[in-house]
Amino acid sequence: MKRTAGQDRSITAKWRPATQAVRAGTWRSEMGETSEALFLTSGFTYDDAATVAARFAGEQDGMTYSRLQNPTVQMLEERIAVLEGADACRAQASGMAAMTTALLCQLSAGDHVVAAKAAFGSCRWLVDNLLPRFGISGTTIDAGNNAAWEAAIRPNTKVFFFESPANPTMDVVDLEFVCALAKKHGIVTVVDNAFATSALQRPMDFGADVVAYSATKMMDGQGRVLAGAVCGSDEFINNVLLPFQRNTGPNCAPFNAWVVLKGLETLDLRIHRQSESALKVASFMEGRVPQVLYPFLPSHPQHALAKKQMKAGGPIFSFNLDGGRAQAHALLDALELIDISNNIGDSRSLMCHPASSTHHGVGPETRADMGVGEGMLRLNVGLEDPEDLIADLDQALRQAGL
Ligand SMILES: *Cc1c(COP(=O)(O)O)cnc(C)c1O
Repeated sequence: MKRTAGQDRSITAKWRPATQAVRAGTWRSEMGETSEALFLTSGFTYDDAATVAARFAGEQDGMTYSRLQNPTVQMLEERIAVLEGADACRAQASGMAAMTTALLCQLSAGDHVVAAKAAFGSCRWLVDNLLPRFGISGTTIDAGNNAAWEAAIRPNTKVFFFESPANPTMDVVDLEFVCALAKKHGIVTVVDNAFATSALQRPMDFGADVVAYSATKMMDGQGRVLAGAVCGSDEFINNVLLPFQRNTGPNCAPFNAWVVLKGLETLDLRIHRQSESALKVASFMEGRVPQVLYPFLPSHPQHALAKKQMKAGGPIFSFNLDGGRAQAHALLDALELIDISNNIGDSRSLMCHPASSTHHGVGPETRADMGVGEGMLRLNVGLEDPEDLIADLDQALRQAGL
């Protein structure tokens, strides 16, 4: 393999994000291919037995087995790390593999976690159901309230875990405050950055320790594969995460890593266009429904904070209808262009009713606690012309009696 400039941190760290997204992490084989090669291999061979021994002893760089390293996956990891401003990254099989790995690799029985109560359904499930089975307790709080973070700290608190903006309530967390508070108490912050991605918000610039991703969303950006990633310091990735990952195997498949590498090339372009369109569509919806939740609308309660820490509002917003589940479902059923789908980050516009899909599993009490009501709908604004999306919403709203 030939290392390109994309493998040299002293060079890639100086590139601007759009350049990093195309070139960081690239290796070339002796063929000199322009597009990254896809290494669909589980194992590797060696010229002699001494080489195997040297690689397993960590005395020689090189591949041994795709649960430990794979060239395509490593290109993706280096690209994401550079974009995030992190020392290192390890790709994961999915966003939930990333969240589970980022938490379990550093927590033990007797530890305590403080988490945002508004979160992706499975993230809440980890805190409410999985961690307690291993003796790890959790407190869920209103993450937009800085005082609530401080009040929830216990002597055994090891991790703060949250999304910003949160799925689907669009609550924004004050990254600078919460990360500084965590540092003061020796607590590790784990930020799920799926909605913004590094193109709009780099949590580490505000002091976050670990950034975890569903790469399924904006990074792939075209609804093709599941993938995830965890970024952190060299110390965290090599000494805390890797021993867990190598022995439990939540790895990203090389094919999926390759698809996400291609997706990242257009991340900057897509997320800015989709954010622009989302703001237009959200502004239209604001005149038609009782409440729209989008951080870059002046009506969002944390608008100033969102502007401080994000470059744009992202492709996703939620809104509330007064007519509960029946009216929300009627609106979904009346859509012609926008698809009914619970995915996000796609180039297609997709709408879902969280209470009966992504947040069905957490149950009615947790939904009420998070602020996910029966009249809430979530829209992922894709790359279509926003005027066509507005026209579709207009006709669907009329059909639903709005
Ligand atoms: C989708 C999502 C996840 C889970 O990611 P998968 O790739 O579906 O496993 C985690 N967190 C947030 C905020 C998400 O939107």
